[in-house]
Amino acid sequence: MDKYSLLGLSRDCTEEEIRNAYKRLALKCHPDKPTGDRETFSSLEQAYKTLSEPSARASYDNELANASKLMHPVWQAVNLDDMELLDDSYRMDCRCGASLQAGKQSLVNLPALIECNDCSTMVRVDPAA
Ligand SMILES: [Zn+2]
Repeated sequence: MDKYSLLGLSRDCTEEEIRNAYKRLALKCHPDKPTGDRETFSSLEQAYKTLSEPSARASYDNELANASKLMHPVWQAVNLDDMELLDDSYRMDCRCGASLQAGKQSLVNLPALIECNDCSTMVRVDPAA
């Protein structure tokens, strides 16, 4: 479970919401209480520590975004030579009709993923056949 779900919050919640949710839940599962649960309490503490610190929260958000990218189903795998070579980038048509483009530099290490800005489809680019 991610730290936001643990606190019952959405990812765009405010700092105040984080603080309030943490206080409420931490009170409920504090190990000194009959309803206490040490494990949950320490997860809550860790979640709060990360989310209440802006730079830690930003890097955690980044981590979450990357994780969901990896889980995102790849729509299509193409070879580098299936793509049209432009001056300093490669391009192809996305299934949504938008143009998928990636700089040559970003395709040095293959396979690489290109994400469509319009429909968030992922295409995997494999080395030329
Ligand atoms: Zn698209």
